[in-house]
Amino acid sequence: MPAALVTGASRGIGRAIALQFARDGYDIAVNYRSRRTAATDVVETIEAETSQFGHAVQGDIGDLASIRACIEEIADTFGGIDHIVNNAGINQHCYTPDLSPEEFIHLLNVNVNGAFTVTKIALPYLEQSCVPEGPSVINLSSRLAHTGADYEPHYAASKAGIIGLTKSHALEFSPDIRVNAIAPGFIETDMTDKTASEDEKQARRETIPVSRLGKPEDIGQAAAYLRDASFVTGETLNVNGGQTMW
Ligand code: NAP
Repeated sequence: MPAALVTGASRGIGRAIALQFARDGYDIAVNYRSRRTAATDVVETIEAETSQFGHAVQGDIGDLASIRACIEEIADTFGGIDHIVNNAGINQHCYTPDLSPEEFIHLLNVNVNGAFTVTKIALPYLEQSCVPEGPSVINLSSRLAHTGADYEPHYAASKAGIIGLTKSHALEFSPDIRVNAIAPGFIETDMTDKTASEDEKQARRETIPVSRLGKPEDIGQAAAYLRDASFVTGETLNVNGGQTMW
């Protein structure tokens, strides 16, 4: 069976991507950092709702030794890796005067170095993949990579970095492995629940042409498209209900 690794798949967007890929016939490595029960729930849902195999794998994407152990465990368990979704990420609302250099580096380490390192360590497995659509990497960027954000400069910088990383890896790994990114707009998850009040969500809704906030499943569908789109590489797919158009 083809296998996909989704980092940060215990909840939110990662969970939706994991379930979408399982419904599409992939076995899933469900990476998580700390919420084991939530990751186990994703595995149980995969196995209850599809005929695919799921496996929860603890691993801190901000730590090299942890990523190495995680990829080794996945390769041993699944016998290979065909697709990677570098979804794990963190966010922090903070204006520059209050943002320490250590906080800046920590966020970039998880959001950018993490994606780079997971891909680098898993590369030999992707290179051995024989899936008909070809192996791929999908990185999670953000609408804020394009617009910037006055309240989270490190987050916007990290997501712009993801676009540069995506294009560079697409060039470097062609023609064997496709590498694409998704830039979501406002998606309702724990990440946005933490930082936006109901009033702010309503105000946001009014700026979105399709008149709703995004759901994690919207990103699951976009990831499935990029996984299968064998003539698309180095691209960033904007999924934001038309809030910003480039
Ligand atoms: P979320 O609800 O906060 O979930 C984050 C996930 O990442 C969790 O599974 C968490 O694991 C995992 N994670 C965090 N740090 C990790 C680490 N060091 N190592 C391994 N896993 C880690 O986030 P989300 O809203 O689903 O966002 C997913 C991705 O989409 C992120 O890259 C985010 O930047 C991007 N994005 C989100 C939005 C949005 O509106 N929600 C918009 C644009 C881009 P635990 O559960 O174990 O802590």
